[in-house]
Amino acid sequence: MTPAPGRALVLATHNTHKVDEFQAIVSAVRPDLDVLPYDGPEPVEDGVTFAANALIKARSAASHTGRVALADDSGICVDALGGSPGVFSAYWAGHAKDARANLELLLDQLSDIGDPHRAAQFVSTIALVTPDGHEHVVEGRWPGRLATRAQGAGGFGYDPIFVPDGSTRTVAEWSAAEKNADSHRARAFRELAPLLSRLS
Ligand code: IMP
Repeated sequence: MTPAPGRALVLATHNTHKVDEFQAIVSAVRPDLDVLPYDGPEPVEDGVTFAANALIKARSAASHTGRVALADDSGICVDALGGSPGVFSAYWAGHAKDARANLELLLDQLSDIGDPHRAAQFVSTIALVTPDGHEHVVEGRWPGRLATRAQGAGGFGYDPIFVPDGSTRTVAEWSAAEKNADSHRARAFRELAPLLSRLS
């Protein structure tokens, strides 16, 4: 794989939480590689899997910049809903992308479902695409269950209703450091590290 020209990676994400997390992991593994934000054209994310959408974004960034590109796609998957909201997590309650409305709708849909059947997982998929066409996809899964009501003020998205396995608190009640060490993205990053170290 070839990160040239300029020994830099581009990150195809506009989410500042994610840019910081990506930069930290790339720098830890490859301090010699600069990390650049991608500001080129945005492709339509019309995939129906996390991997398809991550690849769409990474391919577009690699072909527009001529650099190795990283992109991610993530969401929450609820067992009782057959894995939904999944790739529709950001706009489950409509295209307004209203995070509070999304989680209220999910709570409402599961209102009759008891604790044994409230299993869910956060999923993060990261695609790495090189300009010469090599493609890699890694995935991190964070298992847990849905709370029956929103609790906590931290995090974003579905954090107030997601209780990771082994915890009694929602992720919105965790510190950012605790979440960043254990989350679906952290798990995907751990899979990504060996790929980054193999980039020549
Ligand atoms: P995207 O990967 O930025 O498209 O994120 C999709 C959606 O998944 C977000 O808008 C959130 O609703 C949800 N999501 C992804 N990661 C997290 C997380 O760490 N906490 C809470 N919600 C998340």
